[in-house]
Amino acid sequence: MEITIDRYSGFCWGVVRTVVIAEESLDQFEQVYVLGHIIHNPKEIQRLEDKGLQTITVHDFPRIAEEAKQLGKQPKVLIRAHGEPPETYRKALELGIEIIDATCPVVTKLQERVRKFYDQGYQIVIFGKKDHAEVLGVRGVCNDKCIVVMTVEEALEHVNLDTKTVLFSQTTMDRPTFVLIKEALQSRIKDLIIDSMEGIATEFHAKDTICGQVSGREDMLKKYASDHDCILFVAGKASSNGKVLYDVCREVNPRTYFIEDISEIQEEWFSNAQSIGITGATSTPQWYMNHVKEHLSKFASQISTN
Ligand code: SF4
Repeated sequence: MEITIDRYSGFCWGVVRTVVIAEESLDQFEQVYVLGHIIHNPKEIQRLEDKGLQTITVHDFPRIAEEAKQLGKQPKVLIRAHGEPPETYRKALELGIEIIDATCPVVTKLQERVRKFYDQGYQIVIFGKKDHAEVLGVRGVCNDKCIVVMTVEEALEHVNLDTKTVLFSQTTMDRPTFVLIKEALQSRIKDLIIDSMEGIATEFHAKDTICGQVSGREDMLKKYASDHDCILFVAGKASSNGKVLYDVCREVNPRTYFIEDISEIQEEWFSNAQSIGITGATSTPQWYMNHVKEHLSKFASQISTN
């Protein structure tokens, strides 16, 4: 049985950057907090928590500020790759908390673009998950004056077709659905709605803000999944791009199995398989995929000796 790890899998550069900033901060300061889980992967969270990183929420700000004050110190809070709404920075400033900003530059750029269109009076539509951390940050930059949709049906139900509109995407969503939403809105807003005062079609812009680190992986992943008898997709269950990339694999190879932990592996998945491919999300650490490979190699050698 041949077992390989997809060489294009592992952390995206945005996650690498966040983890490096976290590790450097942990080397430099006695105590570092992070707002929310640093990435959607429990293995990597545990590794960094073992080094002293403490996960908190904004509700913990007054407590950590008070504790640090008692010790004559300033609390350090890391903002993860998903980013945060402006309100978080305001609260930190008020309480004397130092922010270590590890927001992914791709997310920062998305926030800046949303702010620009919001300031110009556009209706903002976001293709994404309403309560995903990245979307909460984006909602914050436009004072929550936006419509977050997951499907064409939701878009058509909630979007006002009679006003200038811009459509963005959460960075980790799938492009085919984005295109469907864009086409549904574009045809209705541009072709059907005529501004009664100006006599011109209402403006519609679609900004494809899906991250290339997610969408760029899809074609390579399809090839990798179809080249193996069986695929083990390793990711945290809360990972958005994990779900998107898992679906990509499963579409071309029905023998694709999603695991977060080695204990979920079932031997019967591999019956008659000659090749097993191990891959994962942009938040799956390489060291854990190596661990899965070692585990499968032991299992494969047991089968060959039986
Ligand atoms: S997937 Fe893209 S947007 Fe998200 S952290 Fe990675 S590089 Fe940044």
